[in-house]
Amino acid sequence: MLYAVLSDVHASLEALSAVLADARAAGAQSLVCCGDIVGYHADPEACIDLLRARGVACVAGNHDRVAAGLCEPEGFGPAAARAALWTRRRLSADHRAFLASLPLARVIDGRFLLVHAALHPSPNADLHLSSAARLRRSIEPLGDGRFGVRLAFFGHTHRALVHDARGALPLGETMQLPDGRALLVNPGSVGQPRDGDPRAAYALYDADARRLSLRRVPFDRRATLAAAARAGLAAEAP
Ligand code: ZN
Repeated sequence: MLYAVLSDVHASLEALSAVLADARAAGAQSLVCCGDIVGYHADPEACIDLLRARGVACVAGNHDRVAAGLCEPEGFGPAAARAALWTRRRLSADHRAFLASLPLARVIDGRFLLVHAALHPSPNADLHLSSAARLRRSIEPLGDGRFGVRLAFFGHTHRALVHDARGALPLGETMQLPDGRALLVNPGSVGQPRDGDPRAAYALYDADARRLSLRRVPFDRRATLAAAARAGLAAEAP
């Protein structure tokens, strides 16, 4: 089974459309998303509609939860908070209900786990896995069998990463994931990459061969930024 693993779409319809086209051309059979469908950019409803139409299995990101009205944008920077509250006002009740229904974590086909931010102290949408110590703490529950799987995909930091209990693995365009080892994998961000490469990021994962491909896809970023500016959103500031 070939999975396309998306994260942090952040309401960029141009980036999401480009990634979905690339995934289709690559033969992806199932699509999943590690959260933050909305926030920062100006097309939240269209992005939600596209993901729902494709039956994409999603978990909730922190921006999704604020837009759904489940919590307030505590800890958000000013631009992020403004966009999250703009999104909440803009969404239909149906779209808000969809975001509110998303779980914090879910196991996909008994093969891997999806979470937005971290697995410790329990699966959540808020804690950045931005240090080796935090990554090690979030790998522990994968290693002890709590979730029944030893591989988890996450997002939130907007940077691609493959990490085991000892440290980060060197990234390659295509990687063979080691068997039996607890692993945390971040596919990067579709709509707002933060690694200096402006192209949309996502991953293809061949679960049978345990092969991971980190993909980069060009998209019309100027159209995304222009739409955000028209909506009064300073879309690039995290
Ligand atoms: Zn995000």
